[in-house]
Amino acid sequence: MVRDDGRDGISRRDFVVAGMTAAAVAGLPLVAKADPPKDEDEGDEEEGKGETKKREVLPTRVLGKTGEKVTILNIGATGEVTRRLMNAADKAGIRMLDTADCYVKGKHESGLGEWLNKSGRRKEFFVVSKDHPNTPDEWVEQLDKRLKNFQNDYLDLFFIHGLGEPKIGYKMTEEEVLNVAKSKEWAAAAEKMKKSGKTRFVGIALHGEIPVRCQILKNAAEGGWVDAIMLMYDPQTVREHDDFNKALDIAHKAGVGLIAMKTMRTVKTVEEDVPKFKEMGLSPHQAVLQAVWTDERFASICSAINNLKILKENASAARNFKPLKKDKMAAVLEMYDRPGRRFCAACDGRCHRAAGTDAALNDIVRYLSYYELDGCREKARDLFASLPEHRRDWRGADLAAASKACVSKLDFETLLTRAQAKLA
Ligand code: SF4
Repeated sequence: MVRDDGRDGISRRDFVVAGMTAAAVAGLPLVAKADPPKDEDEGDEEEGKGETKKREVLPTRVLGKTGEKVTILNIGATGEVTRRLMNAADKAGIRMLDTADCYVKGKHESGLGEWLNKSGRRKEFFVVSKDHPNTPDEWVEQLDKRLKNFQNDYLDLFFIHGLGEPKIGYKMTEEEVLNVAKSKEWAAAAEKMKKSGKTRFVGIALHGEIPVRCQILKNAAEGGWVDAIMLMYDPQTVREHDDFNKALDIAHKAGVGLIAMKTMRTVKTVEEDVPKFKEMGLSPHQAVLQAVWTDERFASICSAINNLKILKENASAARNFKPLKKDKMAAVLEMYDRPGRRFCAACDGRCHRAAGTDAALNDIVRYLSYYELDGCREKARDLFASLPEHRRDWRGADLAAASKACVSKLDFETLLTRAQAKLA
């Protein structure tokens, strides 16, 4: 593990910039040896059946103190489960699956359970689900609901969903939310669920701005009961926020398994070839995935895969992963610095402070991205409407100052004009 104490002569920041891993320094393999490149096809109805067939598995890493080896690629939900996509994911070697109570109103979780039951190979997959408890007792009760919907008798990992995200509407105070990860009551609930055998591990799907993410990561290290945390992460955010980088280190050193999500969100609109990546035979999105895997603190990336093309692209990046060297990492970071981005990386909200406004510039821009990039128009409008009036009113705000301060280099003038037209 790379340390920040200087004993190995390379700090985490150096690592991120240089694209070097401690394992590379020590000459140790971090992941299972990747097989030679091979294209995936769609899979078929029969592909999931049977216990004895030898199947190719993508490279794995250990998920913190759970000691479990999980595939470095984890398929995240984007819509209803289709057998075609799941069979293809299976064939591509993905063995970590992500779902939740609320995806497609529970249909994703039930569809995943049906697919796994039909495959007869439940034990080969590491399945994560989530729910939104307000109290430890409620969390324990929710586990039974999740299992009923999942149609199985255990989960591998059960998360508190979206902790830290104000709009999720937790009834806890802000302080209680921050303290969940070191609370004795939540620890007792976690222990009870694990002892029941209904979930093997527990943790948090962490949302919110950088200060919230930092505090919960540190509290998880202190509290000791959190087995894993899934959180929004990209290489640029780590470069910009040393506090975030340090909090990740603290959690990682305490054995909290880390899973990255929304890794490509902030460069979702980058489609053109980037010469440096082309030389490596990578698309921009594959380069971002490999940049994240270069940070060996992360065991896996939960990637929103909704079609066979994206599945093939993601699986190929995982299968052929090699830690990015300094010049390639620099090219990835340059990509984040390009103008024209449309998604807030959820830093510390410095945009509205610089603009001198109470308006939630970051949230409004994020809702616009749900509308424009994801096609979730109703959700985007509902979220916008749910903001208090003073949080929707950016009149008088210094938008040029906000753009200058923004980590994601967002053009607020343009984006907010579009938000007004589409969301209001
Ligand atoms: S809009 Fe930019 S400055 Fe504001 S929270 Fe998001 S990334 Fe940070």
